[in-house]
Amino acid sequence: MNQPFRKKKQYGQNFLTNPAIPARIVRESGIDASCGVLEIGPGLGALTVQLAPVAAKVVAVEIDRDLQSPLTERLRPFGNVKVLWQDVLQTDLKALLAEEFPGLDVCVCANLPYYITTPILMKLLEGRYGFRSITVMVQKEFAERLCAVPGSENCGAVTLSVGYYAKVRRLFAVPAGCFSPRPKVDSAVIRLDVYASPPVAVREESLLFEVIKASFLQRRKTLSNSLCAYFPSLSKAETVQLLADCGLPPEIRGEALSLEKFAEISDALLLKREKESP
Ligand code: SAM
Repeated sequence: MNQPFRKKKQYGQNFLTNPAIPARIVRESGIDASCGVLEIGPGLGALTVQLAPVAAKVVAVEIDRDLQSPLTERLRPFGNVKVLWQDVLQTDLKALLAEEFPGLDVCVCANLPYYITTPILMKLLEGRYGFRSITVMVQKEFAERLCAVPGSENCGAVTLSVGYYAKVRRLFAVPAGCFSPRPKVDSAVIRLDVYASPPVAVREESLLFEVIKASFLQRRKTLSNSLCAYFPSLSKAETVQLLADCGLPPEIRGEALSLEKFAEISDALLLKREKESP
């Protein structure tokens, strides 16, 4: 006899119980018969069973092998679904996409495990896999952070880093009562439409991300203090001059700046380095 399945908190297992929610996620994701879908964390299949009739093919990556029996049973009616029992963060996505979806546009659709939302999203974006869209359920506060505009309190390093790769839209809110077990937080579904090329031009991407990270490490600090604390080669006077060259006052804070301004600072810093060690 099958053992009853115990939901695991350490894997962020809050399963959707109301079928209207996954149906709406699929509807608003734009997924259709012309695309393959990569699902992360199918759990007991609440979203998978709604994706399968709509998409050309669904490949779902699930870490918890204890779900194998109930999930396989639930997905039996669908011939176009495959489950890979592995950790998505350890998965070679380039190889997976080449193997499973040759010639197909691919969308990502998932109710994400919240304990690893940021690493999963950054993996999906940094790999530049050419996903047509990424539609995911995340914690409500995280959705607000991703959709924050520069100058607002919610704007952070992740807002700008994700904004470099994709246009983010909040689709709808999902109350905690729609899951079992009921999580302590509310959720929201967001859709990321990945840019074919970045919305700002920058000479060295890795430096841009470092400048963004440095600017938000200590929120109470001004940008000039944050930057010279992070980059040992920059004195306070040089940092103030660097910002002035970009048309910024010394007391400005990181959350007030747009991605364009961060790109400008990053290029100015690179130019300064090149002049110092040609
Ligand atoms: N899709 C299901 C639903 O909406 O009801 C389950 C969503 S639940 C919030 C997150 C799922 O991600 C769980 O099934 C969990 O086991 C799985 N998961 C957690 N960490 C994972 C990882 N590193 N790689 C793949 N799946 C993971």
